[in-house]
Amino acid sequence: MDNFVHSKIPELLTLTNTIVQADIAPYAERVDREGIWPEHSMSALAAAGLFGLQVPAAFGGHGQGLLALSMLTESIGAACPSSALCFGMHCVGTAVIAAKATAFHEEAYLRPIAAGRHMTTLALSESGSGSHFYLPQTSLQVEAGEFVVNGTKQFITNGGHADSYVVSTVAQSDEDDTGDFSCLIVDADTANTQWLAPWDGFGMRGNSSRGLAFQNTRVPLQNLLGTQGDQVWYVFEVVAPYFLMAMAGTYLGVAQAALDAAGAHLRSRRFSHSGQSLAEIETLQTRYADMWMSVEKTRALVREAARRADLGLADALPFLLSCKADAGDTAVRVANDAMTICGGSAYRENSRVAQIMRDARASHVMSPTTDILRTWTGRALLGLPLL
Ligand SMILES: Cc1cc2nc3c(=O)[nH]c(=O)nc-3n(C[C@H](O)[C@H](O)[C@H](O)COP(=O)(O)OP(=O)(O)OC[C@H]3O[C@@H](n4cnc5c(N)ncnc54)[C@H](O)[C@@H]3O)c2cc1C
Repeated sequence: MDNFVHSKIPELLTLTNTIVQADIAPYAERVDREGIWPEHSMSALAAAGLFGLQVPAAFGGHGQGLLALSMLTESIGAACPSSALCFGMHCVGTAVIAAKATAFHEEAYLRPIAAGRHMTTLALSESGSGSHFYLPQTSLQVEAGEFVVNGTKQFITNGGHADSYVVSTVAQSDEDDTGDFSCLIVDADTANTQWLAPWDGFGMRGNSSRGLAFQNTRVPLQNLLGTQGDQVWYVFEVVAPYFLMAMAGTYLGVAQAALDAAGAHLRSRRFSHSGQSLAEIETLQTRYADMWMSVEKTRALVREAARRADLGLADALPFLLSCKADAGDTAVRVANDAMTICGGSAYRENSRVAQIMRDARASHVMSPTTDILRTWTGRALLGLPLL
């Protein structure tokens, strides 16, 4: 990825910031309170042409990489983390489709995505293998010139709202007993699919992370991404980098929101008995400084990871693996400190800081989880295989 592509980021960021202020931030509290999927956010981002962030310029998109993805999700995440997650997962799904797109994928998916007419998302996780999302058990067979899919995915962000789902499967045939797995695009209106219970999350409440069951679901052969057995390539070359940067950006935004809430409260809260503001108390000044340092250190790591990976530098891997874990740690810690600084008024039911705390917690359990990423970072630094 060259400097020319990065030179477009300020313009894309300004556009995103405008949408965040006008269309996303005003409804963020309602998204959390009522647990509604943020259709208003996704429609505004689509109308502004931002659905095509990861679509190559040749098909009408912006042809952007990881730096743009992390900066845009940070901007959205600071206002409405659920919206950032929904947009981020659409972008990750798009990058997976674009990685080895055929002429059919370009026409049926990438051009409509760039035009803001199609939303996709990623359906990898299953309850059986849990956070080991790279080990699907959903089966894939070829029968009468079509794929037949059986299995159940869990936690699909944008579940029930996206137009297509990028699904991971494992081949089951006498000819192919390698255990290799493959990615398919499954259209939303495909027969023999069934959505499971609506999402009712502790945080990220607008996310619509739902389960989807496939029962002898027939999918055209042309919906295969790459070649059969390619999924390991997809997981580590495309899914992981784009997912990690979309999430690192989102949780960096969450951390920034917590810092901002703490700063606003420190400046505005004044005691009636002494006239002193919280900002004048040294303990709180120190706590606030620590929060700011954490956020800025995380931002530097996230930016560095994105730049190195966009440039294709050989040493990008540990930066990429560590930045989502670090952003999650920072978001949870800074949200916790914001709760302390904002006192009882923030502890009241569903305050802004309470929402930030609940949203921040999703970072540690979204796979690759924080604990798994630490192990992978260590292995990458020691020159050991990740798995
Ligand atoms: C808000 C939200 C949105 C999501 N969106 C999507 C999505 O769009 N698409 C999708 O495919 N999935 C999605 N997921 C699923 C997510 O990526 C994980 O697969 C899921 O949260 C795993 O849950 P589990 O209970 O099965 O975890 P488990 O696998 O049971 O893990 C429980 C704990 O054990 C730890 N653990 C497990 N194995 C190891 C190990 N080897 N080393 C160290 N620690 C380990 C984990 O880190 C975790 O802390 C989403 C999840 C959430 C919460």
